[in-house]
Amino acid sequence: MGAAFQWPDGIRGAVSLSFDDSRGDTLDNGIEILDRHNVKATFYIVECSFEKRVQDWKDVAASGHELGNHSVCHPCSGNFGFSDDNMLERHTVEQIAADIDDATRKIEDTFGLTPQTFAYPCGQKFVGRGRGTASYVPVIAERFVVGRGFRDESTNLPVVCDLAQVCGEDFDCKTFDQVKSILERTAAAGRWVVFVGHGVGDGGGQVVLRSMLDQLCAYVNDPDNGLWADTVVNVGTYVRDHQDL
Ligand SMILES: [Zn+2]
Repeated sequence: MGAAFQWPDGIRGAVSLSFDDSRGDTLDNGIEILDRHNVKATFYIVECSFEKRVQDWKDVAASGHELGNHSVCHPCSGNFGFSDDNMLERHTVEQIAADIDDATRKIEDTFGLTPQTFAYPCGQKFVGRGRGTASYVPVIAERFVVGRGFRDESTNLPVVCDLAQVCGEDFDCKTFDQVKSILERTAAAGRWVVFVGHGVGDGGGQVVLRSMLDQLCAYVNDPDNGLWADTVVNVGTYVRDHQDL
């Protein structure tokens, strides 16, 4: 496997940087680093938080970053304890589809763009419980170029990967050495890694470290490392157009 898929000339593997939940510290600490290195990232925004800083998110989109759909208000398993009314175990496929369509309409109305990719809240892809459980992956496949997971055990093998279930690699709290070893393996194996973070800062939970992000951006921009760094939609579209399934 692998011989049937070709990255663009000079490229051995691809990397996308994504940030979930439209956090303020991502705006305050992350955008400056990405823009200084001219690395384009993907931001999976949720209405309940992006409404606090709409103009800032408009500026992010205007500078070439991607805004993606992350649902209206983040339905996950009841085990997280976020909300009894919004737990996946109590949703149906029709309800989750309506939520995702509402989120798309809100992004269209607010930003004048249609999101092309989706990130599964908490990386979870089911609704219901027990024998009544269903996958909502087909809902995403019908609507988006890519559906991105979280904390998956693998990176993506482009010749066969299902774009409706692209693997996500957690890079919150990671050191540059940890991230660099993933990038080296990605290039060596011709793969696509999609990093997933939340906030950006100097420490704390669910935070991409500023110093690491700065080093990561410099690394992916060095042509000797053979990596193509781009948004989830741009790499996903390339993979879609070059898979021969
Ligand atoms: Zn999230």
